[in-house]
Amino acid sequence: MTKAVKVLRSFTAITAGIALAACYQPPEAQNSGPPVNYSSNRTDVDQRPSNANSNMSKANENKTEPTGFFGHLPDGFVRPTDSVERTLLHEYGSMFVAQGVTVPRKIVFRDEADVSAFQATLKTASETVGGIPLELQAAAMDDLRKAIDEARSRGLSITPRDVDSARRSYDETVGLWKSRVDPALKHWVANGRMTQGQADRIATMSPFEQVAEILKLEENGIYFAKDLSKSIIYSVAPPGTSQHLSMLALDVKENEDAKVRSILAEHKWFQTVVSDLPHFTYLGVEESELPALGLKKVTSGARSFWVPDI
Ligand SMILES: [Zn+2]
Repeated sequence: MTKAVKVLRSFTAITAGIALAACYQPPEAQNSGPPVNYSSNRTDVDQRPSNANSNMSKANENKTEPTGFFGHLPDGFVRPTDSVERTLLHEYGSMFVAQGVTVPRKIVFRDEADVSAFQATLKTASETVGGIPLELQAAAMDDLRKAIDEARSRGLSITPRDVDSARRSYDETVGLWKSRVDPALKHWVANGRMTQGQADRIATMSPFEQVAEILKLEENGIYFAKDLSKSIIYSVAPPGTSQHLSMLALDVKENEDAKVRSILAEHKWFQTVVSDLPHFTYLGVEESELPALGLKKVTSGARSFWVPDI
């Protein structure tokens, strides 16, 4: 990590820390649990280089450059505490190692107030693209403008897919979530896999509580994606987890054009959610630097996605 990034990180940690004080846990508390463990090839934050200088004092050892995905999460990040959060980090987590921007210190925002408090800490920029007003973190917008200019010079265009393609509020993500949850509850009651009582109980929960409940049901094949054949997380981001809340994501209309995808990648915008084809994430570094942040490239169809290597 460069010095400039470290300084920025410290600064953003302080500002975000103030805004999210109610949710902040001291780093000691977060690190006291067992290391996250959901695949054998994960990279552990606690790993130290095997060739560490034996003369190095204990204090210096602790200053070793962080390694892997967990080593690049922001200071104060609240580590996953259950399988639901681990799944969410795995599916949507690339954003948390983005550089030169502010990222949340938690995997799931709890409600609108939580999202608003975070968004109020951000340096943002606005632009109207393809007739649609967009709001993003300033660095993300800056590189998007450059990508749009380059696309234009090559006779291409990069435009948002819809009016909600950049910044979203928590309530907007709840609307999308409900559009999957409500029909699925009806379906599973109708086909006898769930009682009306169970469905009513879930329907009255807060969206935050529903996430864990629904992911648990899905372990038994009661799926909530639009086509009811797979997990809801491959259909819509659960409330509070969308990268759009962090103002680091853009849904691109021209996403099927490989030249457009490559121009976006040259300007630090990458695909990071395998199931979400129009969705691009601002990571703030060149593609060659992504493996060092603990991300790995996976190929699906003709596309490349950068996902947490965990
Ligand atoms: Zn998106």
